[in-house]
Amino acid sequence: MTIKLHRGDLPADFVAGSSIAIDTETLGLKPARDKLCLVQISTGDGNAHLLQVDRATFRAPRLTAILADPAVIKIFHFARFDVAVLKHYLGAETRNIYCTKIASRLVRTYTDRHGLKDLVRELLGIELDKLQQSSDWGAHILTEAQKKYAATDVLYLHELKARLDQMLEREGRTEIAKACFDFVPTRAALDLLGWSEEDVFAHA
Ligand code: MN
Repeated sequence: MTIKLHRGDLPADFVAGSSIAIDTETLGLKPARDKLCLVQISTGDGNAHLLQVDRATFRAPRLTAILADPAVIKIFHFARFDVAVLKHYLGAETRNIYCTKIASRLVRTYTDRHGLKDLVRELLGIELDKLQQSSDWGAHILTEAQKKYAATDVLYLHELKARLDQMLEREGRTEIAKACFDFVPTRAALDLLGWSEEDVFAHA
């Protein structure tokens, strides 16, 4: 595994291919308050790109173009948060979304454990170390442990998607999953507009 660090935007020679795994690190869980610091990407080749966002300009036109490209599948774990953050800070419209957490909820109905660590353990038989989850992602120089943790969050998403796709197919839930993935930008927009806790579909 190699980890490449980029500042500001992806390099001009970055080739997304047909799908990328993507994750973000921020200073907290409230998009309007907690700034985007890092965007991690893997094309599924076992390597990771870490993009340190310019927190003065929040301009990353090459990344933003890939996010908007409907020909590239964007594989997230809990897309709702990342899509909101990417829209709020980069102005990005993310198209062609896949979310391993939604897929897991739709097929792994025998458990309520849908964290990335749980999925990777059960579906891939790998034990992940989540020790650096809470750390200062705004640091200009990231530690080796932070880089490794950040990379780990995108390295298994392609394999998870492959397993979850089989399970969705088996349970006849591929179409409902697709509809849920397509709704993520709307769900993220509701979060940014102030409907993060309130369910607009709820009766009471
Ligand atoms: Mn992460």
